[in-house]
Amino acid sequence: MRIEIVTIGDELLLGFTIDTNAAHLARELAAVGVEIVHRTTVGDDAGDIADAVKTAIGRTGAVITTGGLGPTSDDLTKPSIAALFGRKMIRDEVILEALKARWARYRRLGPFPESNVAQAMIPEGATIIPNQHGSAPGIWLEDSGGRWVAMLPGVPREMKGMLADELLPRIVERVKRAGETPTVVRSRTLRTTGIAESALADQLGDLARGVDGLALAFLPSTESVDLRLTSRGLTSDAADAALAAGVLKLRGAAGRYVYGEDGADLAETVLDACRRRGVKLSVAESCTGGLLGARLTAIPGSSDVFMGGVIAYDNSIKRGWLGVTDKDLEDHGAVSEEVATTMAKSVREKTKTDIGIGITGVAGPGGGTAAKPVGMVWVALDGIGTQARCLRLFGTRNEVRQRAAQAALDMVRRSLETG
Ligand code: AMP
Ligand code: MG
Repeated sequence: MRIEIVTIGDELLLGFTIDTNAAHLARELAAVGVEIVHRTTVGDDAGDIADAVKTAIGRTGAVITTGGLGPTSDDLTKPSIAALFGRKMIRDEVILEALKARWARYRRLGPFPESNVAQAMIPEGATIIPNQHGSAPGIWLEDSGGRWVAMLPGVPREMKGMLADELLPRIVERVKRAGETPTVVRSRTLRTTGIAESALADQLGDLARGVDGLALAFLPSTESVDLRLTSRGLTSDAADAALAAGVLKLRGAAGRYVYGEDGADLAETVLDACRRRGVKLSVAESCTGGLLGARLTAIPGSSDVFMGGVIAYDNSIKRGWLGVTDKDLEDHGAVSEEVATTMAKSVREKTKTDIGIGITGVAGPGGGTAAKPVGMVWVALDGIGTQARCLRLFGTRNEVRQRAAQAALDMVRRSLETG
């Protein structure tokens, strides 16, 4: 079955409200094997709503709308779709009584507002989709050819509740009745770091266009490029098997850039690797100002691996706490291999850990020079995998800092894999 979504509301078009309803609907329906093939958003305008639903129903014969079911005058979904189906609006006495009872329960004071009566108006011949999570009921409207529109409220909490309670079971039932084999839309994601999207695509070669019929999406973010494999149109078991085979191929091609799957956090990957080997970590951070320590301590149970460290931001702290020499600062500057190396070595010795990490760089936006531009960051490891790397990172101040912390974690991960 293929379904279209029409989300309704001026606030969505203006960008004041993010359309989380469409995303939630798409995920939940994919999980039961129903594909969303189009998404449309329109404002609170009867003509636009009718146009969008008409086009959508012409393509798939199955449409879910959200929004515009409330009692206020901008809520036009029901009458405009009723007109499209050539149905009159009639008052549903059962709904009206329920609304009055609900009003009496929650607002003991004051009379029942006349504008609430609009919520009891439904298209002739429609089926009510009960709402246990709020006052506006949903509507199921179907024509003689079996083409249908399900109207849900805009409030995400109510929409989610009604989808789970009422609409999903109804859709699953229809899929079964149509004699379709139940299929799923399912994904698995590999997380990579230390390589740009385009370079990764080159490295993957032919696989970059998809793996044995599975769609491949490249999803870059500040710290990672995720590779998401998606299976469509297969049964649950077949999808799992196809994804397992696809992930294996991708892992082989992406090699050491892969640090985990799905929601993996590199800090957690590193902590696990350290724990397995009985390795303890410490940090000396300048431009990242504690970001690396924060990444590590955000993971529950990090205390058996991560000992602590120092935020050596000013040169006086690099000197006094970490033994960086005046000579190195004068000859090479604070952002240099020599200073990063001393920071890593000193913090490792002082904290008696197995790996010390030193980070010093130019986060920007100011402070860059021709020799040391914004984004230049030295990261040094001392102990296991002793080394120093000069990174050239791009982005805003915050992105440079986040990428530096990620790169430092990745150096530790790789050192533990080989060392
Ligand atoms: P409505 O049912 O159109 O009166 O919408 C009620 C409220 O639900 C709006 O004020 C929005 O805050 C929220 N809302 C409506 N549509 C969406 C949507 N597609 N995604 C997220 N929130 C929404
Ligand atoms: Mg609205």
